[in-house]
Amino acid sequence: MPLPFPTNPSLLTLPVYQPGRPIQEVARELGLSPDGILKMASNENTLGPSPLAVKAMRKALGATHLYPDGNAFYLKAKLAAKLGLTPGHLIFGNGSNEILELIGHTLLWEKDAEVVASQYCFAVYPIVAALFGVRLVLVPAKNYAHDLDAMLAAITPETRVVFVANPNNPTGTAASAEAISRFVAAVPERVLIALDEAYIEFLDDAQDLLPELLEGRRPNLILMRTFSKIYGLAGLRVGYGMGHPDFIAELEKTRQPFNVNALAQAAALAALDDHRHVERTRRLTVSGRAFFKRAFRRLGLESIESHANFVLVRVGDGQRVFQELQKLGIIIRPMASYQLPEFVRISIGRAAENKRCLDALQKILGR
Ligand SMILES: *Cc1c(COP(=O)(O)O)cnc(C)c1O
Repeated sequence: MPLPFPTNPSLLTLPVYQPGRPIQEVARELGLSPDGILKMASNENTLGPSPLAVKAMRKALGATHLYPDGNAFYLKAKLAAKLGLTPGHLIFGNGSNEILELIGHTLLWEKDAEVVASQYCFAVYPIVAALFGVRLVLVPAKNYAHDLDAMLAAITPETRVVFVANPNNPTGTAASAEAISRFVAAVPERVLIALDEAYIEFLDDAQDLLPELLEGRRPNLILMRTFSKIYGLAGLRVGYGMGHPDFIAELEKTRQPFNVNALAQAAALAALDDHRHVERTRRLTVSGRAFFKRAFRRLGLESIESHANFVLVRVGDGQRVFQELQKLGIIIRPMASYQLPEFVRISIGRAAENKRCLDALQKILGR
């Protein structure tokens, strides 16, 4: 129905974000029991939340009649100490996705502003660009990865933000620490480098840009990380940005006063201490990546070398494979919305889950 008021014209072409399908939804649709359904679609932690986080949330439940600490004092203090930063370098968001939006509020207010991202970039970057009505310049990928030199060359006087995810989702590709450092140094200071480190904990050769932030050398750099992936707290929605305190102070003005809820803060605080859970997750991911890599090679399937907790594999008709796997109770992610219709993305699970998924895939592909 035509609405009786004018809506934001960007919404006409704004793609609706296609999340991984929830287990309950698939169970309802297929008449299956949710217990038998395996979700490998959203790069969640198959080990579940940190047990320490669960305990902390139980304790915090009795105080949920109170608003949370809008400034996340304890969480900021603890994380700052862990990272060697100050609390003023940190901003918390309702997931790190919210930080992406706050960047839009802060920097994408001019009509002719532009943002630069890579061809196979995280779906939220184009959404942010569209939401703020600015031009998105997508730079062709090189071997499915960010072409950092071409991205540099795509920067114009109108560019306000360049988005880089390292490792990248959905390709799992990563630039070397050295390449990232060179890129960061080469971007003009008037352009914000939004470096999305959602999967940094899974990367062996990780760039460490925190010293530059601490020394105040890069006022145009923000790093973003999340509790959704290695910490296993995706359902709570908590992530953070790290940047120059003057820029963080501007971002802070644009967020909702209580954007990170009380349970999320309690859980994240406890999860920071759960080194065992983090290490188990990392080990599981590394062995799962190796398992899929070997298996895909054996089956003659092209896959992209992954530095994250998922794998991207070329299966022919990705949508069909997604649907057939779903019938077998396995939810993965088709990639047509990322212009990769021949690929599917599979989040790494436990050994038995990976095997179940691979066996099903082999059956569907007749290999
Ligand atoms: C999962 C993911 C995030 C994290 O999102 P949250 O909002 O923190 O759950 C951010 N960036 C990328 C590239 C991701 O894949």
